[in-house]
Amino acid sequence: MCGIIGYVGKSEAVPILLDGLERLEYRGYDSAGVAVVSPSNTLQVVKTKGRLSVLREHLDAQDPLCGTIGIGHTRWATHGEPNDTNAHPHVGSDGKIAVVHNGIIENYLEIRASLERKGIPFHSETDTEVIAQLLEYYYKKLGNIMNAVYAVLGRIEGAYAMGILCEDFPGQMIAARKDAPLLIGYGEDGNFIASDVTALLAHTRTVTYMEDGEVAVLTGDSVQIYDRERSPITKERHTVDWDVSAAEKGGYAHFMLKEIMEQGEAVRKTISPRIKDGRIFIEELAGMEGYLEGLRKICIVACGSAFHVGMVGKYVLERLLRIPVDAYLASEFRYSEPLLGDDTLVIVISQSGETLDSMAALREAKKRGSKVLSIVNVVGSSIARESDITLYTWAGPEIAVATTKAYTTQMALLILLGVYCADMNGRISEEEYKTILADFLALPEKVDEVLKNIEAYQKAASRYFNQNSVFYIGRNLDYALGLEGSLKLKEISYIHSESYAAGELKHGTISLIEPGTLVISLATYAPLLEKTRSNIVEVRARGADVIVVATEETAPAVKDQADELLVIPNTHRLLQPVLAVIPLQLFAYYVALNRGCDIDKPRNLAKSVTVE
Ligand code: GLU
Repeated sequence: MCGIIGYVGKSEAVPILLDGLERLEYRGYDSAGVAVVSPSNTLQVVKTKGRLSVLREHLDAQDPLCGTIGIGHTRWATHGEPNDTNAHPHVGSDGKIAVVHNGIIENYLEIRASLERKGIPFHSETDTEVIAQLLEYYYKKLGNIMNAVYAVLGRIEGAYAMGILCEDFPGQMIAARKDAPLLIGYGEDGNFIASDVTALLAHTRTVTYMEDGEVAVLTGDSVQIYDRERSPITKERHTVDWDVSAAEKGGYAHFMLKEIMEQGEAVRKTISPRIKDGRIFIEELAGMEGYLEGLRKICIVACGSAFHVGMVGKYVLERLLRIPVDAYLASEFRYSEPLLGDDTLVIVISQSGETLDSMAALREAKKRGSKVLSIVNVVGSSIARESDITLYTWAGPEIAVATTKAYTTQMALLILLGVYCADMNGRISEEEYKTILADFLALPEKVDEVLKNIEAYQKAASRYFNQNSVFYIGRNLDYALGLEGSLKLKEISYIHSESYAAGELKHGTISLIEPGTLVISLATYAPLLEKTRSNIVEVRARGADVIVVATEETAPAVKDQADELLVIPNTHRLLQPVLAVIPLQLFAYYVALNRGCDIDKPRNLAKSVTVE
């Protein structure tokens, strides 16, 4: 969600800030701005509603903004509509201090009222402006900028990552974080702050992740981090192994298409290091055999597509482990007084590792005595750091807002985890274990095979891109899969769609099926094929057009009922969703392309949702 970049060093700041913001564009935003301290020590701010290209036009239309220190922001509005005034950076009344902020200040109304009573005028509707105004107020009162920063942090409640400039300290940038991602980058001719490592890859791969309560002071050649109590601390530096090209389109029309095409490789990188000499080997779980054997319940907690991975996980893990497994939406789970204890494992899934609702669920679970295992793509992210055990998906940076390769790698890894635990608990026969492992190893190639069938997906999309409403139906794993297929379509093509357990359709939704309605039927789960076939027949009897996704094994039984048939290779039944989701992703992609949508940056959506 929304992005922050800051730079202090020897080079001109504006081009660095704009380049960094461009690399954060994928996260979704509605306005953008920069602040720079000029060589004559004045703070200058340019900000505007709309895309970065609009900000660039504004910057080009005026005298160049010079200065070697600056902060930049892309805003995803939470408080106050997206307009020029509400865009960041925000400045205090004297125009001395500028602030960019990601997150939400929950007690902003109370602080705003108290400052207004002191005669301080506010200009925007944002919660962020209170930070700038309060900082300036304390700075005037206390006469010391760091005292002022700590005074502000003591008063504000909520989530924040922030970058601060003060024109009285023209070579110094201050950063602070709580419950929103922020990292420091160490460059050759300057230092950086950013909300996301992709903003920094062009300049440095040496970073430090800030933690809650920390404050950092950066100059061109130094970085000092302080803890909550204001004691200086030394923190580990990490080397990020993603390179710049991984975060570029590399000849593809969209990041989403590139990332869909990378799925074979991403699955291979995630799975194959964890299979050695014919056995699953999960280093992170070494020594935990006793704990895993004592497990009585698993709760999978996530949001959006990661929740759909959880739904797949529910079916797979329950079947393998024979203990209750449930998937929960993190935003609900955290407030549901969940029944947890030390015999329950909570699995949190998040691509970015910064999803605020998932983070809150993680903390709730730990508070209630459960261990938390997270499946995360971004190394060193907040969820990864706070979990008891973290398993990384090695999908590389995912830029498109609609997730694809993170989803498939999360799913493959969760299933692998299930098989590992089943083996440990003696719940899987050696024969099935061997078969599933062989299928795991063959999975990346099969993913590539599914990706080759591109013309079939294009054809189906060009036939059906004009629908107003689409229904996805399936049973068991196919139902879990339909949830993701439906979300993909909604996210990027803006077509209304819903996913139903196929057997549930007749309990209400079938009234919406009329001649010409498109139903996408997932018929890959062989044990329930006959049942699914009956449901396809039911919707066709009411005039629906049906796209069927089937396996080589199931296709013969359903092909007579398909207006379009998309066939995928056979694999182990529990792994089938990893392959079956691909036609759904590509169907959604080509539908959105036919409709001329902004595929990588769908309206109103943000990549990693760091607000509640
Ligand atoms: N809550 C702030 C605003 O609405 C920051 C939003 C963001 O994280 O971009 O301005």
